[in-house]
Amino acid sequence: MTASFPRAEVVIDLSAIRHNVALLASRAAAGAQTMAVVKADGYGHGALEVARAAVEGGATWLGTCSLGEALALRRAGIGVRLFSWLDTPEADFAPAVAEDIDVAVSSLDELARVADGVRRARDFSGLTVNARVHLKIDTGLSRNGCPPAEWQALVDAAAAAEPLIEVVAIWSHLACADELGHPSIDAQAKRFDEAYDIARTAGLNPMRHIANSAAVLTRPELHFDLVRPGIAIYGLNPVPTEDDLRPAMTFKSSVVLTKRIPAGESVSYGHSWTAERDSTLALVPVGYADGVPRSLSGRMDVWLGGRRRPVVGRVCMDQLIVDCGDDEPAVGSEVILFGQGALGEPTAREWADKLGTIDYEIVTSMYRPRIHRTYL
Ligand code: PLP
Repeated sequence: MTASFPRAEVVIDLSAIRHNVALLASRAAAGAQTMAVVKADGYGHGALEVARAAVEGGATWLGTCSLGEALALRRAGIGVRLFSWLDTPEADFAPAVAEDIDVAVSSLDELARVADGVRRARDFSGLTVNARVHLKIDTGLSRNGCPPAEWQALVDAAAAAEPLIEVVAIWSHLACADELGHPSIDAQAKRFDEAYDIARTAGLNPMRHIANSAAVLTRPELHFDLVRPGIAIYGLNPVPTEDDLRPAMTFKSSVVLTKRIPAGESVSYGHSWTAERDSTLALVPVGYADGVPRSLSGRMDVWLGGRRRPVVGRVCMDQLIVDCGDDEPAVGSEVILFGQGALGEPTAREWADKLGTIDYEIVTSMYRPRIHRTYL
């Protein structure tokens, strides 16, 4: 039997996003606002939809990586504070300034380019706009951020650039917050304190922010004025706490064909699996081009007909095959590739564990042209 159904869909439960943001905001220390991180297309969940849900859940800030991501949200009508933190040396800060986006500065060169953006934004808008800048100190991640040895010079230059530049915050990012008690957390916190003292001595009165999801859930003393949870707003907990976070993403497809094969028949490319008994196979029209890693061939299950069933043989580009044994699922039956886990279905974390990666990578890779996105 064959039939035609949508190939596959990623279903995003926006009520889960609202719930998770509200939970994280309630875990933030008194006085700390919540910035929901929606970079990388909302970790694969859809930046605009997640942004709206996060604001409904209590986020007063949204964080993006690139200026382009932040501008897209602003131009789509998102009104809350937007903070964008990583761009290329060619980035033009004028639109960000004109459209009220807070930007990160890690170096004197970047500070000069932001100041230039302010001048041009003033020229074309005719308004006395300035740039809201968050100075980034590299406290130990050794990615972007100003090295401590250059911090004093950056702080002094930023203070001198007022009023073109308004230093609203100093900030940093943690390397090992998901490893509870890792000594680098305290070491980074100490450098962050020192950076703050230097900024205060230079006459600045900035906010501070450093906490990602793991630190929101485990290190309240690092919440300061603003917390920046990402993965947890999508319901994936990076630390082993009992918080009631709800995974928002479910990846599903459906059975498009079933067939009986006799014992001894082999399945899919390379004939890596052979039926030991007469079996019903169910064909599911998703493959590695749709985000099902081929390296999960022979070691993944799907949820079909109220139970887990093994994917057998190689995962192909566009399809995979499920062994249903003596059961005969109807064509059109729902197949869950991964979901919230509440039924017993596989989760993004389970995929990540099998693949030797983190669930961040699984969900962010689910933005695929052939996969329909549905929002609940
Ligand atoms: N802040 C910054 C600068 C980030 O790059 C990220 C994510 O990588 C986050 C916050 C959120 O981190 P997490 O998803 O671990 O909560």
